[in-house]
Amino acid sequence: MKAMVLRKTAPIQEKPLTVEDLPIPEPGQKQILVRVSACGVCHTELDEIEGRLPARLPVILGHEIVGTVEGLGAETSNFQLKDRGGIAWINSACGTCFLCRNGNENLCPEFQGTGCDVNGGYAQYTVISEDFAYLIPDRFTDCQAAPLLCAGAIGYRALRLAGLRDGQILGLFGFGASAHIVIQIAKHKYPRSQVFVFTRAGQQAHQNLARKLGADWVGATGDTPPAKLSCAIDFTPAWRPVVEALRVLEKGGRLVINAIRKEERDKDSLLSLDYPTHVWLEKELKSVANITRTDAGEFLPLAAEIPIVPQVQEFDLQQANEALLLLKQGRIQGAGVLRMPE
Ligand SMILES: [Zn+2]
Ligand SMILES: [Zn+2]
Repeated sequence: MKAMVLRKTAPIQEKPLTVEDLPIPEPGQKQILVRVSACGVCHTELDEIEGRLPARLPVILGHEIVGTVEGLGAETSNFQLKDRGGIAWINSACGTCFLCRNGNENLCPEFQGTGCDVNGGYAQYTVISEDFAYLIPDRFTDCQAAPLLCAGAIGYRALRLAGLRDGQILGLFGFGASAHIVIQIAKHKYPRSQVFVFTRAGQQAHQNLARKLGADWVGATGDTPPAKLSCAIDFTPAWRPVVEALRVLEKGGRLVINAIRKEERDKDSLLSLDYPTHVWLEKELKSVANITRTDAGEFLPLAAEIPIVPQVQEFDLQQANEALLLLKQGRIQGAGVLRMPE
């Protein structure tokens, strides 16, 4: 099978992913073999490639995987051959620790990430425990379904953690793969709420997409919106949006950071943190880490019911380096998805 492999960390500009021919993996007793048709690209992959997030090298990246079940381990029972299955970031957790037993398997000390601790979906085939795979609702194409598995599912979790109530104001900082799905969930679940969207200055295409998807106000990070935010989600890899979000947060409001790592480049922004302006009056800061199977399992049918229409930009598998560079530059509209060769 063809795969894009990361052997050594490097800046994405150096195109560190290489095309390789590898044997098709064999499914274990509890695993299914999936012939991948589409795999989304995610900021987390940039963190792995550039060394901010340690991955088990060499590794096949990719954790927004959609494909067809083509092989079944002897002890599987949830899937049949030819089913359309999806795989997300959570590849496994121990199932027995305190965190797993209390619905927090995303925080399990044994947590393994797809395309990080084990091989993922930048390849024609992959294997997964059937307990960590999901049926994909019929209404989505393979490419539309891929970004639902990370950008969508973790956005769903972030929105839940933000604690928005109908009628309150939600702020979204950064408007890429995840935020453009979250606005659609928010507009469905909280019809009386207003959504304010903040992008990098000059990101006209992202701002236009936000307006098209129902944003009630759109501006640049650093702008002061017409009202304070009851809660906010930061989807960016930078620090300045965190400071700016805290500044325009309502008393008692909560900011959720939806990022697995932050880049160092604008860390100095944190020096402008001023206690009365940014922190006082019971403002809260919380991060979101990984997802549980419940997040993905609840979100996929909800996405079909709303329905969420992910905007995707497609690339060939061999263009993974180029797709990730565009992602880093903020030049992908909606979500980027790799298509596998036939
Ligand atoms: Zn992801
Ligand atoms: Zn556990």
